Amino acid sequence: MSTDATATTTDRLDRLAAAARDAGIDVSLIAPGPDLAYLVGHSVASHERLTLLAVPSGSPGDAVMVLPALERGGWEGSTAEAAGIRFITWLDGQDPYAMLLDALDAGGALGSAAVDDHLPYLHAFRLQQTRPALRLQPAGELIAELRMRKQPAEIDELAAVGAAIDRVHLRIGEWLRAGRTENEVAADIAEALVEEGHRSADFVIVASGPNGASPHHEASDRVIEAGDPVVVDIGGPNPAGYNSDSTRTYLVAGGEPDPEFAKVHELVRTAQRAAVAAVRPGATAESIDRAAREVLEQAGYGEYFITRTGHGIGLEVHEHPYIVAGNTRPLEPGMAFSIEPGVYLPGRFGVRIEDIVVVGDEGAVLMNNSPVELLTI
Ligand code: ZN
Ligand code: ZN
Ligand code: ZN
Repeated sequence: MSTDATATTTDRLDRLAAAARDAGIDVSLIAPGPDLAYLVGHSVASHERLTLLAVPSGSPGDAVMVLPALERGGWEGSTAEAAGIRFITWLDGQDPYAMLLDALDAGGALGSAAVDDHLPYLHAFRLQQTRPALRLQPAGELIAELRMRKQPAEIDELAAVGAAIDRVHLRIGEWLRAGRTENEVAADIAEALVEEGHRSADFVIVASGPNGASPHHEASDRVIEAGDPVVVDIGGPNPAGYNSDSTRTYLVAGGEPDPEFAKVHELVRTAQRAAVAAVRPGATAESIDRAAREVLEQAGYGEYFITRTGHGIGLEVHEHPYIVAGNTRPLEPGMAFSIEPGVYLPGRFGVRIEDIVVVGDEGAVLMNNSPVELLTI
């Protein structure tokens, strides 16, 4: 295990403990999932058997991980081991909740615990039953504060996975054509995601014609027709776990496209670039949403832009900060999020254009660089 990775884990545990201390919390309890992956560089599937990392706020160097004995092997040689985390294994029939709480605090003085948002309620319930006086509260905000500002190595991962999804979009002509179903096109795209460097295809939205008017549409047996606008929104994690998420709206050649389509595409492109241009340190998250929305409102399409403008991205596809009205948080260098305005005309078509940006000292740094101009396939 590299000393870099170990130093990163130690630093992140220290920062979590400091934030928890400031919030008056005695211990942070981290469940398998993106938060555990962020802290120790590795996670496992979460089961009914308890796996939990406990980070004492006063002494993060005394962090312990309780886990089923049968899963100890998976952590052999891990960064968690190298960083000095103590493993407490338990066997079926033992009480891992009591073992964890005793390891942290045999005397019962533990007052408060921040509990990972990804911990199944059943586990939180058992912890509470074991120690009724322990005050549990959600850890989500604490951890979001750490994960929101990406470190240089994380930005490198987002740039690499952004370039990978760009390569998939650039190959769209290989798969998208009239006469094929959305599902057939989506299956080919999913394969290409992996070919171009993703660990897996997390989502592949191919929304043709009227299906494009539903932002949640994924892919169906609808046969794509000449003249259809097609929203293609795709992404997945790279081997390090960092996600891509990029949307382009294409036009299938031939047929008679909706007469409003070209105009709407141009407007969405203008709105998207206006929001990208508005990104700078100190600008609020909601001001980025406003920049996109203003363009569409002034053109009379405000009521058809039915989503927020974007979401943070990293080890999860959706995380903080959310680019939405009411989020007055000032942007800071290192924050990474999507900018994805759209216009959704019920029964007709939709247009969405989406790129990931990272806040740099001078403004937005684009993680996606495939063309946003209308492409007829
Ligand atoms: Zn997307
Ligand atoms: Zn997105
Ligand atoms: Zn989404």
